[in-house]
Amino acid sequence: TLLSVSGRPLDVDGRRGAIAVFHDITEVREREGDLTAFAGIVAHDLKNPLAVIAAHAEMARDILAPALPHSPEAREATASVERVSAGVVRMRRLIDDLLAYTTARDAALRLRPLDLAALVGEVIAERINHLPVRPDIYVGPLPWVEADPALLRHVLDNLIGNALKYVHPGRVPKIDVSAAPAGPGWVRVEVADRGIGVPDADKPHVFESFHRAHAGQSYGGTGLGLAICRRVIDRHGGSITVVDNPGGGSRFSFTVPGATLPADAPAGATAHE
Ligand code: ADP
Repeated sequence: TLLSVSGRPLDVDGRRGAIAVFHDITEVREREGDLTAFAGIVAHDLKNPLAVIAAHAEMARDILAPALPHSPEAREATASVERVSAGVVRMRRLIDDLLAYTTARDAALRLRPLDLAALVGEVIAERINHLPVRPDIYVGPLPWVEADPALLRHVLDNLIGNALKYVHPGRVPKIDVSAAPAGPGWVRVEVADRGIGVPDADKPHVFESFHRAHAGQSYGGTGLGLAICRRVIDRHGGSITVVDNPGGGSRFSFTVPGATLPADAPAGATAHE
């Protein structure tokens, strides 16, 4: 039986106590498993029709632009095609997130020693490739860790992607990636930003699927990224949290097992003891 325990302190006429509520969540977990599998199948099956839409939108744009005379109708038609393409990009992101979400739950973990510095470097290079401004990113010395490469990449990609996204409008993103030992055999990795921050009321919920703290604002997203991060980190036996960055913005930290250096590691690499 899976039990979920929640509680809160009580103060009745000056007498202090606490109330604890136990829920049997076995059935909820099983239902969640079914839903996850279903989401995975749907996401996978949506990929093909979406690829067809994307290809045709691209073709229409290539044909329209040179063929139409410069008229308001031509501009309107081109704008419509651009909107289809933008919709495709958003849907692709949702599908990728759904697939990653199901994989993070079900795929077998393939643990191996990983050079965190190299992985963070790759993720950052990819993420800043198409940005109009060059963000201010500082990466501290990073150790080797013992993790699943594809899944850990998702975590770093989500956290760094969010740090680049949730910025005050018009400001250059500032990110600080660092790591420190977190008890014997464990490493704590931190991604801190100077962005808009996570409101206190949302902090306990941002790792739940579909919870979006800034949903009413113009930041796009699916609300799945951090849920994926939590699943991946849970499966590595670690934990993930968010606190305010003392300098403004937020600071996401997660723990993963440390690794000893493989014999062929490049000079200058560091290992967590
Ligand atoms: P989304 O696809 O909406 O970005 P996530 O699961 O990655 O979903 O994040 C959940 C919510 O947490 C976001 O909608 C946003 O409100 C908040 N959030 C995540 N990262 C940050 C951050 N670095 N700064 C401020 N808010 C954040």
